[in-house]
Amino acid sequence: MSGPFVLYHKIATPPRDARIRGGYTPPKRFAKQMALLKKQGFVFYTASELIEYVREHGSFPPDGLAITFDDGWKDNYENAFPVLRQLGIKATIFLIPSCIGQVSAKAMSQGEGGRAHLSLQNILEMSKHGIEFGSHTLNHRLLHQIPSDEVKFEVEESKRQIEALLCKPCKVFAYPGGHFNASASQLVKDAGYTAAFTTTYGAIQHLDFYALNRIEILRRDRFLFQFARKINRSV
Ligand SMILES: [Zn+2]
Repeated sequence: MSGPFVLYHKIATPPRDARIRGGYTPPKRFAKQMALLKKQGFVFYTASELIEYVREHGSFPPDGLAITFDDGWKDNYENAFPVLRQLGIKATIFLIPSCIGQVSAKAMSQGEGGRAHLSLQNILEMSKHGIEFGSHTLNHRLLHQIPSDEVKFEVEESKRQIEALLCKPCKVFAYPGGHFNASASQLVKDAGYTAAFTTTYGAIQHLDFYALNRIEILRRDRFLFQFARKINRSV
């Protein structure tokens, strides 16, 4: 079981010069995937709502699903939000506060150019319409590679900034690159987050709220049947 959390990155066709294309899901394909999930009868929660449900009931809700996006790309507003809104699908986006309104390469793979992130206005509009915002650190630092005082700062300061922007609690966290260690997950817990997500797609034996797996949807999940199999096998 990987838990009923789905992970997307960019909802866009990869630009010609993109060297790493795995994180791009073309907009039309995304729309078909969301329509399929809706048709299959899934009930959509934000990530923190699903966590609250599990803490209360001891298991995930039947047919419950949370759609999540890492990095807070502007294409999430342009290409995913209209689909989500039309279908009434809630979702959670993990933001990098230092990148809001910026064209930045902080969350791109090494050697890739900068890319536009959500503006504050985009975020405020989405926040009004069922989109939850979590933290993906202040600067997209890889937490297993930096000293714990820097981890603490990245984890705490991003939460503080997101809460100041939205006037809502920032409850959930996603590790950049999915990387963490015991000390990082403890600092995330101490900062007051209710859960933290990795990007790993794989089986787990027990539920660790600070190392939750997600079903990662990649460009190679081209056909709708592949997508459906991936979701239904994991949920
Ligand atoms: Zn990321």
